[in-house]
Amino acid sequence: MLEIQGVTKKFKQQTAVDGLSLSIPEGEVFALLGPNGAGKTTTLNLILGFEKADQGSILVDGFDVAKDLGEVRKRLAFIPENVQLYPHLSGKENLAYFSQLAGIQYSDEQLKNLLLEAGLQEKAHDSPISTYSKGMRQKVGVAIAYSKKAKLLLLDEPASGLDPLSSAELSQLVRKVAAQGATVLMVSHDLFRVKETADRVGIFKNGELKKIVKASEVTANDLELIYQGIVV
Ligand code: ATP
Repeated sequence: MLEIQGVTKKFKQQTAVDGLSLSIPEGEVFALLGPNGAGKTTTLNLILGFEKADQGSILVDGFDVAKDLGEVRKRLAFIPENVQLYPHLSGKENLAYFSQLAGIQYSDEQLKNLLLEAGLQEKAHDSPISTYSKGMRQKVGVAIAYSKKAKLLLLDEPASGLDPLSSAELSQLVRKVAAQGATVLMVSHDLFRVKETADRVGIFKNGELKKIVKASEVTANDLELIYQGIVV
């Protein structure tokens, strides 16, 4: 579903992503785990087409980000660290707006079902987003992904700022999205959350993918590789 081949991105003297190759099959939850400045967000920005790679290629469902960005974006949903929604509109109105942007008109009942599917309780559907917690905003983000039938869901630091319950709920929701056939790429520096959520983990540092391990098999040595001596 996602095929990254030899991707390099430099900002002046700084190599943010260095020869990244990564293949993520349909239905997998993959986590890029690494410290600040590792190049995780830049990787997402390259997949989204917000940044252009200096070298290499990125294919989403067979479409090349450099050549067919429109087709790529139809297949993508992105939930940034701070989910950007219209604060004065309700969850349902935001969902209606973003699905219309994707060219789909849903009935009120369908919007309600999408929000419920994403775990947002019905009593919140008509309240303004400004009253929502981060976890609730993320659920609207997942509902938007459902509404456009996204094949690839990208999440940037999904668990940061969430309480343990919301964080566990989000992990379950991400697992559900993947079980329904979407592919998920999340970036994080939270090992515990990554272990709870992902199938495989890429250990990322200085723009380089150091190794890929099963989430259940990440060891203290792997962490040492990225955090070098800092007890986590
Ligand atoms: P964090 O966890 O802090 O978000 P990250 O792993 O997401 O870190 P990136 O934000 O991708 O890391 O940054 C990788 C490197 O590229 C850093 O050294 C950063 O300063 C640099 N960088 C990222 N974006 C830009 C930019 N637009 N201009 C210049 N340098 C940039």
